[in-house]
Amino acid sequence: MAMGSLLKRAGLAFGRWNAAHLARRPYRMRAGRPIVSFTFDDFPRSAWTAGGPILARHGARATYYTALGLAGGDGVSGPHFTPEDLRALAAAGHEVGCHTHAHCPAWETPAEKFEASVARNAEQFGSFLPGTRLRSLSYPVSPPRAATKLRMGKRFACCRGGGQTYNAGLIDLNCLRGFFLEQTRGDARPLAAAIAASAAEDGWLILVTHDISPRPSRHGVTPCFLEHALNLAQASGAVVLPVAAAWDRIAAR
Ligand SMILES: [Zn+2]
Repeated sequence: MAMGSLLKRAGLAFGRWNAAHLARRPYRMRAGRPIVSFTFDDFPRSAWTAGGPILARHGARATYYTALGLAGGDGVSGPHFTPEDLRALAAAGHEVGCHTHAHCPAWETPAEKFEASVARNAEQFGSFLPGTRLRSLSYPVSPPRAATKLRMGKRFACCRGGGQTYNAGLIDLNCLRGFFLEQTRGDARPLAAAIAASAAEDGWLILVTHDISPRPSRHGVTPCFLEHALNLAQASGAVVLPVAAAWDRIAAR
């Protein structure tokens, strides 16, 4: 392995440790009932055009983590959302969350620059969706720096990272764990295990993906897999809620 990529891997491992242990905003969670949240990052149009009807069939609402700088463009997961998509999904009761404006990689971006991009996203939202407040954030690409967690903790009710697990007991509102559906490579077993383990602890499982397509990119899953995740979540006895609504439910207890 080249020295450069070894250093990059070591840096990311350090980043993951940082994200998990530093600048935490701990909260003792007692949900009383398991919760599953469905979230889409970036987001590719298909998360709404193909994912939206599947969510609607299950009576479920999701969180769309939006980087407005990507609007109307093309990405590795297909064409990105348009302003009309955003208006339509907000009108359908889904949550619009923040994913920075320029899709800033959380570990590689200095905290000040990251926050400037978050502020720009919020500002531009005023014209896209007047009156909407972005209440939760997901960190793009890599784990957040401690300084970034602290800044985001002041702006958002809660923020989500990765980690391939659920949240239970003492959770970190500055970096909630997320479970990326595409990392299962289409194998439903790890997903079923995470849903069952979270349900057994009255936990909060936050699922993440990008595109929804019969031939998904390596960042997305098929419509069938999303449908299966919804079936498993609902059969587990969990309540399915967008991230900010899930937090409101937890905080109200
Ligand atoms: Zn992203």
